[in-house]
Amino acid sequence: MAKILIVEDNALNIKLFCDLLAAHGHEPEAVTDSRNALDAARQFSPDLVITDIQLPHVSGLDLIRMIRKDDDLSNVPIMAVTAYSTAEDEERIRGAGAQAYVSKPISVVRFAETVDQLLKDSSEDGAVLDNPANDVADGPGPGEAGGEEEI
Ligand code: MN
Repeated sequence: MAKILIVEDNALNIKLFCDLLAAHGHEPEAVTDSRNALDAARQFSPDLVITDIQLPHVSGLDLIRMIRKDDDLSNVPIMAVTAYSTAEDEERIRGAGAQAYVSKPISVVRFAETVDQLLKDSSEDGAVLDNPANDVADGPGPGEAGGEEEI
């Protein structure tokens, strides 16, 4: 089970994503107003963020950049979900700091596979970070790692 924050302004998409993630055993939480997304992410401490790109107020690209700059969230994997899907769009999304994107209308299979892959990659990265042989100055402090569940 993973905690997954969804940032999406479309109610039907929120329902679809939440249902899909819950069916895969995850714990989804949705934010509709992207101005609240960074605070919600800090509080929820997600294992993965899924964000729409076309959002009112704070765009998905700006949100991705803000998460990447945040002390507590900079390592959280981000999956963008977007109707823009040219190679140039993908470059901008990856350039902002997302690891993956899925285009709308989503393929349910591709959505689920991408979520699984990002969670798998990030748990493998975590294993590397936990290795004391690696000098990682910005790694989690001893008190911060305690609540995490290994899958
Ligand atoms: Mn939207």
